[in-house]
Amino acid sequence: MISEETKELVDKGIMLPLMEEFYTIQGEGYHKGTAAYFIRIGGCDVGCHWCDVKESWDAEVHPPTPIGQIVENATKFSKTIVITGGEPLTWDMTALTSALKKQGCQIHIETSGAYDMTGTWDWVCLSPKKIKLPKPEIYAQANELKVIVFNKHDFQFAEEQAAKVHEDCILYLQPEWSNREKMIPQIVDYVMQNPKWKVSLQTHKYLNIP
Ligand code: SF4
Repeated sequence: MISEETKELVDKGIMLPLMEEFYTIQGEGYHKGTAAYFIRIGGCDVGCHWCDVKESWDAEVHPPTPIGQIVENATKFSKTIVITGGEPLTWDMTALTSALKKQGCQIHIETSGAYDMTGTWDWVCLSPKKIKLPKPEIYAQANELKVIVFNKHDFQFAEEQAAKVHEDCILYLQPEWSNREKMIPQIVDYVMQNPKWKVSLQTHKYLNIP
């Protein structure tokens, strides 16, 4: 049970429910292959049925952690930081990102875009979800659009989403992991016929790293 005072600090983004943090290789999307420190913030109510981090959903089971501590841990390892979740925009990211910026970090976010954008970002990976669409203003800020393909209807969804992002936004189709054997051939065909798209794979899972 967290105190009212702590809850207030979490609401302001001065503390954040930290699920896990680790130094690894970004496995997906544009920065695939790049060493980065991942900060996974708890809390998400989007509810994707295939979500591979369902344990992130309930923010209350993840300890409210002062952002100073998060920044100190991260910068011991890397100046390239990936903020993920959960859905990090559940929380106000202003204080965390400005503290990381003061340390000269490059900060990337992985978000569904379902909540208001807060914080300062060097790279925005928007991964929209059908069941809780991104806030309209987030599309213009996306550097990469990563659509998870679970079934063939997701290609149509991907095109609808691609119509909303900036023309320089890099477009990725990524197979949902549990259904990858079925969907990879369809994604490969689709990308060859629609080469504005690229394939993204969860290479960290093939490499057996977090
Ligand atoms: S938005 Fe991300 S964390 Fe939330 S349910 Fe969907 S896949 Fe899981």
